[in-house]
Amino acid sequence: MDLGATIDTEHFGTIPVRHRICPLCGCNNDLAPAIRYSHRPWVVKECANCRFVYIDHTPHYELQFETMAWERTTKVEEHRRAELRPISYKASKRTRFRLHLLPKRTMLGFIAARVGSGNVLDLGCGDGAALASFPVAFTPFGIEISSQSAAIADRAFRSRGGYAVNAPCVEGLRHFPEGFFAAAALRSYLEHEAAPLAVLENLHRALAPNGIAVVKVPNYGSLNRRVMGRRWCGFRYPDHLNYFTPATLRTMATKTGFETHFGITGRLPTSDNMWALLTKRG
Ligand SMILES: [Zn+2]
Repeated sequence: MDLGATIDTEHFGTIPVRHRICPLCGCNNDLAPAIRYSHRPWVVKECANCRFVYIDHTPHYELQFETMAWERTTKVEEHRRAELRPISYKASKRTRFRLHLLPKRTMLGFIAARVGSGNVLDLGCGDGAALASFPVAFTPFGIEISSQSAAIADRAFRSRGGYAVNAPCVEGLRHFPEGFFAAAALRSYLEHEAAPLAVLENLHRALAPNGIAVVKVPNYGSLNRRVMGRRWCGFRYPDHLNYFTPATLRTMATKTGFETHFGITGRLPTSDNMWALLTKRG
């Protein structure tokens, strides 16, 4: 890891970054070419060894939530997307019917169908809103890197017997004893995580035997990514560091001790996202 590296960004000036090796197999892909989805200054690599797709540098965590706060990177992304119109707008309108084919999934629906009660962890919980709708049988816990959001989540969770930790997820997971959670929600989170393998390893330890982790991430293997190319809605620079396919998500989960199930509709190539159920076998 070259701690002295910097990247010159158009909107945020020169910022310190961390170099990334392949988050799945650990291969250093410095010599591999940038793939066509790279967007200056962010370089997207496909691992020469395991084919995992990822951005090869990440801003330091603290910068992601100060200099590069979500609201600001969202504006930059909106600008990038506006420049891609009107072609992409028409194309995305054409494929919009896909959204109405299936009933909307929710994290609560997914977890409550499999676990009746217990401690539930939301990784990257934001202000805690996602667990607010969970029935009282569940005690909510969260890990959140933004101190402002973590404080709001902490207040909400404490009123129900849980709490939120203000830390990066790998570090935050170490706060909890082994086997503490019945379930965990990883909703639109793992694609942002600089160390997804370490997070899953630590999560496996913190889950109870037969505990579940529900993962929702953009599906890089989707048809829409192939049709839309660079204009695919799953690309966000540099917020989305990891681009999972059903195969690479399963490989990472298996490596960290989980059993993976997508169900019948979890990895439809017609959807931009996929849902996976990871189980810690007791
Ligand atoms: Zn790899």
